[in-house]
Amino acid sequence: MTERLPLRTGIGYDSHRFAPGGPLVLGGVEIAADVHLRGHSDGDAIAHAVTDAVLGAAGLGDIGSMFPDSDPVNAGRDSIEMLILAVGHVEAVGWRVGQVDVVVITETPRIAPHRTAMCERIAGALRCAPGDVGIKGKTNEGMGFVGRGEGLACLATATLYRA
Ligand code: MG
Repeated sequence: MTERLPLRTGIGYDSHRFAPGGPLVLGGVEIAADVHLRGHSDGDAIAHAVTDAVLGAAGLGDIGSMFPDSDPVNAGRDSIEMLILAVGHVEAVGWRVGQVDVVVITETPRIAPHRTAMCERIAGALRCAPGDVGIKGKTNEGMGFVGRGEGLACLATATLYRA
């Protein structure tokens, strides 16, 4: 068998549209807002981007193949629960999550006031420490769909180590 690296990295991306009526669920945290993220699940774009980064690093495909939106069990589903299940698959093939880093691109809400709570929720699902999770908010300087307030986007990277 070919020798493989003891570290792997993955990248994930997700975007969701805003729709009228709060609360907004992001990073596993309920944020008081007059919009929510429209999606087949709860629309938690941070959780979805992190899930794809972790699955990609482990070579296990993506969130859409693991939790198809054609399956009614995934309707309105808690995305943190899906992340926990994905991490279980990753650990089953011999990897542990070492660290993730996330950028949320949105004009609103502001991320900083929710960062600590989000890091704790995501870290709990990843079975790592809150300090191993980075979450940063950036506006899009008024440009494009984010700038027009139509929705938000997230990028995530994940680093796995051999358990
Ligand atoms: Mg999504």
